[in-house]
Amino acid sequence: MPGHSQTLFISDLHLCELRPEKLALFEQFMARLTGGIDALYILGDLFEFWHGDDDLTDTHLGIINALAKLTAGGTAVYFQRGNRDFLVGDRFAEVTGSHLLPDHHLIDLYGRRALLMHGDLLCTDDTDYQRMRRLFNLRWLQWLFLRMPLAFRRGLSSRMRHFSNRENAGKSEAIMDVSPASVIDVLRKYGVDLLIHGHTHRPAMHTVKIDGGEAQRIVLGDWYSRESVLVCRPDTLRMLSIQDYIKGSSE
Ligand code: MN
Repeated sequence: MPGHSQTLFISDLHLCELRPEKLALFEQFMARLTGGIDALYILGDLFEFWHGDDDLTDTHLGIINALAKLTAGGTAVYFQRGNRDFLVGDRFAEVTGSHLLPDHHLIDLYGRRALLMHGDLLCTDDTDYQRMRRLFNLRWLQWLFLRMPLAFRRGLSSRMRHFSNRENAGKSEAIMDVSPASVIDVLRKYGVDLLIHGHTHRPAMHTVKIDGGEAQRIVLGDWYSRESVLVCRPDTLRMLSIQDYIKGSSE
C-alpha cells in the first residue's frame, strides 16, 4: 500500500479518447498514488499522440489535471518522451509540475544505479525507423511543425501513423524488438546493471549476460492489453498489473 518507500515506473499508456476505459483506469491509478509514493516515472508514450503543448483536448486536460494534482500533493513525477509524445515541452512540464528527462537518464534507485530509456533507441535493427526518428528530432523541423495550425498537425500525424502501421505490419518481430547488441552497448556505456524501458510492448524481466556478470533489463507493459506498473522498493522490484496495484493486492 502507498506509504512505504516505493518508486513506480509506467510507460506506453497511449491514452486517448478512443479507449475511455484506459482513461478511467489511469484516473483510478492516479487517485491511488496521492501522497503515498516517492516518485512516479513515466517512460514515454503516455499519450497516443501529442501534437505540441497547445494540444489541449478535454482528454489531455484530464490527464494533465491528474498529474498536476499528484505533484501538488508533493509526489515527484518524471517524464521521458516516447516516440508518440516526443513533442512534449516545457509548458507541459510546467502545468503538470513534472520534470522532463533526457533520452538516457541515470537514477539512484534506493542505492542501485538504473538507466531509464523509452526504448525506441534500442531498436537499432529497424534502420528505417531510426532514420525517421533522427528526422523528427531535428530541432528546426520541430520548431517549424509546432508553428503550423493544430488541425494541420493532427491531420499530418494521423496520416503518418497510418503509413507507419502499414510499414510495421511488414516488419519481422525481431526487427521491431530491441537489438541485444545495443542493450549491451548501453549497459557498458552507462556502467549499470539495471535498464528499465518500454516501447516494445513486450513486458518482461530479462537477465542479460554481460562481461562475465549479469544485468537486468526490465520492459514495461503497454496499456493496450497488459497494463502494468513496476514497483520498486528498497529491496524488491516487482511488476504488477495496474488493476492489482489499485486493489492493493501487492501487499
Ligand atoms: Mn514507443
